[in-house]
Amino acid sequence: MSIDFSLKGKIALVTGASYGIGFAIASGMAKAGATIVFNDIKQELVDKGLAAYKEAGIDAHGYVCNVCDEEAVNNMVAKIEEEVGVIDILVNNAGISLIKQINDTTAEEYDKIMSVNARSYFLCSREAIKLMLKNHEGAIVNVSSMWGQTGASCEIAYSMSKAAVIGLTRSLAEELAPSGITVNCVCPGIIDTRMNNMFDKNELEEEVPLGRLGTSEEVADAIFYLTQNKYITAQILGVNGGII
Ligand code: NAP
Repeated sequence: MSIDFSLKGKIALVTGASYGIGFAIASGMAKAGATIVFNDIKQELVDKGLAAYKEAGIDAHGYVCNVCDEEAVNNMVAKIEEEVGVIDILVNNAGISLIKQINDTTAEEYDKIMSVNARSYFLCSREAIKLMLKNHEGAIVNVSSMWGQTGASCEIAYSMSKAAVIGLTRSLAEELAPSGITVNCVCPGIIDTRMNNMFDKNELEEEVPLGRLGTSEEVADAIFYLTQNKYITAQILGVNGGII
């Protein structure tokens, strides 16, 4: 086994990680020794996140930042460098969903979902890379969705935004390979989080060959692996219980 399952000395930024999948990702990395930095869009959410990390015995650094806002992202990354250090791992996780047919989706709703789910990944990657280049190493993992791979009826804008994340991953991986930075992507299926609270759980489970919803920790495990292996880049990994 040549993989070092330790993140001791590494600094990981996970976006939108006050709870849900982001919290599981950051908590897993903290247990492996990483210093955790996370952001969320409101102070109230960051405070909740800080309390949750504290309860889990994790000393995390939380920042308020709307990841769609270029200036806010630039300021956050500069502050992280000053207050915590150089980012080694970036997990672009912040995201929103929208379940509507195309006829009911407004241009404003389309712009918002593309902004949170795709533009923010571009902005956060661009800033974090500037720091990673100083060490000539780093790992970026983007959280897309199985709908980004297949497309989904009634989730046109969401599927488009998640397909853009796959395009970003493949292009950036190629661009950054000579600089020693890996870029990969996970595509979760149906994960047991509040994003799916509005659906009947039994009906959702019937769609999954493995017969149950995935957990945030299972998505986190896949991401953790992708940050560890230095010879895997430009890959799109499904975490979907066999749906695709
Ligand atoms: P979640 O619980 O809603 O967490 C996402 C976090 O991102 C929330 O804290 C959210 O804040 C934050 N956020 C939203 N917009 C933001 C912005 N502009 N700036 C900063 N933070 C922002 O979602 P989740 O279920 O853990 O999903 C995490 C990721 O996995 C998303 O990218 C999602 O698309 C993807 N995914 C999830 C599933 C699933 O089944 N859950 C499946 C496939 C892919 P608010 O609470 O204020 O919105």
